Amino acid sequence: MSHVMKTYARIPLTLVSGEGSYVFDDHGHKYLDFVAGIAVNTLGHGHPAMVKALHKQTQQMLHCSNLYHIPQQVELASKLAALSGLDQAFFCNSGAEANEAAIKLARKFFYDAGSNRRTVITATNSFHGRLLSTLTATGQDKVKVGFDPLPAGFIHVPLNDLDALTHAIDGNTAAILLEPLQGEGGVNLASTEYLQGVRKLCDKHGILLMLDEVQTGIGRTGAMFACEHSAIQPDIITLAKGLGGGMPIGVMLASEKVASSFSPGTHGSTFGGNPLSCTAALTVLKTIENEDLLNNVQARSQQLQQGLADLIDRFDCLMSLRGQGLLLGLLCSCEVAPIINLCRQHGLLILPAGTHVLRMLPALNISESEVSEALVQLEKSLSEFSI
Ligand SMILES: *Cc1c(COP(=O)(O)O)cnc(C)c1O
Repeated sequence: MSHVMKTYARIPLTLVSGEGSYVFDDHGHKYLDFVAGIAVNTLGHGHPAMVKALHKQTQQMLHCSNLYHIPQQVELASKLAALSGLDQAFFCNSGAEANEAAIKLARKFFYDAGSNRRTVITATNSFHGRLLSTLTATGQDKVKVGFDPLPAGFIHVPLNDLDALTHAIDGNTAAILLEPLQGEGGVNLASTEYLQGVRKLCDKHGILLMLDEVQTGIGRTGAMFACEHSAIQPDIITLAKGLGGGMPIGVMLASEKVASSFSPGTHGSTFGGNPLSCTAALTVLKTIENEDLLNNVQARSQQLQQGLADLIDRFDCLMSLRGQGLLLGLLCSCEVAPIINLCRQHGLLILPAGTHVLRMLPALNISESEVSEALVQLEKSLSEFSI
């Protein structure tokens, strides 16, 4: 009997090491990694800059406490503020925690203002995490079954439907929480027109726009933040997955006006923003800049999209391409699990998003030849599947 709880339906594969965009199992088999720990391994595996920075920081200090000033945290907060146009950062350890912090801050902000606004509107098919607050925020019923009573104050509306959102807003609405590109929910893009409309609605009603960029943030879509594609400025951004490049770290960024509602004692996290995780995140940001990775994401995305478009023409089971940058999805007419299994046999790791979408999200420094290789492996798998 395994002593690990069965919260994941695990693939029969044990990964023990990695180098760049390749990972190796416990039998020494090599796989091209188009999962990247679900958008976490931003720089691939064993990047020399990361190894060096973490080694040094490990010798210096792993953890102290947020009761003291942490220089790496101060530096990271200031970099993220400059990149996002927001002012202040709260550090935690995961995406769900970052969203929990955002929800708490939105409520506290209106409480402090003497307003009754408390509810948060989110999108159908969204995913915001597995905490009681964030699974309630999540617009998918399957994550909620068996966990009631759920916290009050969450409403769901269809994505890309401004009318539905307009009707859902009332005097109790505190915030709208959206993924600019839904990851877990099927790689669904919020249109520029929609996001700009949402920003206008928020301004009109004096409510907060909070973007969950836990999966899309830190270069994944070819811009540092996915909201840049729509040229909107949210009041709050949450980040986690790719920020630490493999080290657990989450952050909630907010404008100063909103952030000032978190005074000492209102929120906290023992491990949040520890020196080691912040060093990892600083290394990710520096390397994205030094290696011009946003341009690489755009170029590799183009290459991958062209290759996938060819495959859509050739294979009947492939319907359409969706996504942005290196968060791409292929909508299929059939369930994708057998295709993913065949890909693994051909040495390619890819993910599902729901039951009918193949999701690809390699490291941001994936090379041209590695993308070509993945396309060949996918083609072989689809040919076998279609027989
Ligand atoms: C993964 C994910 C989360 C949850 O992050 P955890 O680190 O697993 O808690 C929240 N929002 C989005 C958009 C995600 O993709």
